[in-house]
Amino acid sequence: MRYALFSDIHANIDAFDEVLADIEATGVDKKLFLGDIVGYGPDPQVCIDRLLEVADVSLGGNHDWAAVGLTSADYFNPYAKAALDWTISQLREDQVEFLKRTQPSLIYDGFQLAHSSPLAPAEWRYILNHQEALDNYPYIEHNLCFIGHSHQPLVIEYTTPQTVRVLRPSPLISLDPDIRYIVNIGSVGQPRDSIVESCWVLFDSEERTVSFRRVPYDVETVQRKMEAHDLPRYLIDRLALGR
Ligand code: ZN
Repeated sequence: MRYALFSDIHANIDAFDEVLADIEATGVDKKLFLGDIVGYGPDPQVCIDRLLEVADVSLGGNHDWAAVGLTSADYFNPYAKAALDWTISQLREDQVEFLKRTQPSLIYDGFQLAHSSPLAPAEWRYILNHQEALDNYPYIEHNLCFIGHSHQPLVIEYTTPQTVRVLRPSPLISLDPDIRYIVNIGSVGQPRDSIVESCWVLFDSEERTVSFRRVPYDVETVQRKMEAHDLPRYLIDRLALGR
């Protein structure tokens, strides 16, 4: 089976539609979304509607849950909080109900999906350093967990339970079925690895390979829409920087 995995769309429909076009051109069996459909960007309503049309699975992220009162936004920075307050004013009631039903993690077709981490999916922890990677090892199911949340694509390979190697995202990485991996699939709507293009991942379960794909989109159009909605300048500027 070929799976398209994508995450952290953040109300960026221009990026989402370009990624969906690339997914269609590539050809996949299933489309799996790892959370944060809203927050930051100018098109929360359209993005949720599109997601419901196309996705086979949709997890909830911290922005999704904060938008519907399932998790606190107290730790959000002022820019994220301002975007969240605007997002809340935009959502339809049926969309609120949809977000309330999302899960932060799931076992799907013999692998694991989580927005933030296998260790504590609803605590929205990051996996950014060696110790955090080691802490997650016991919680990885079926040797393979896909995550989003940090907007930083990478592959963590556990050569032993105490030894990790970080693999840079590349067009083709082979996974050893006998060892554990966490694959961070990056972000569609707000990449933060200094690359402006959207990121998504193709996973081939028979070949046991992952391919990181980058897709350009019209950043200026998104920035103009954010300006029209008075979203924070910091959030507008960072899209063009990829961070
Ligand atoms: Zn996010």
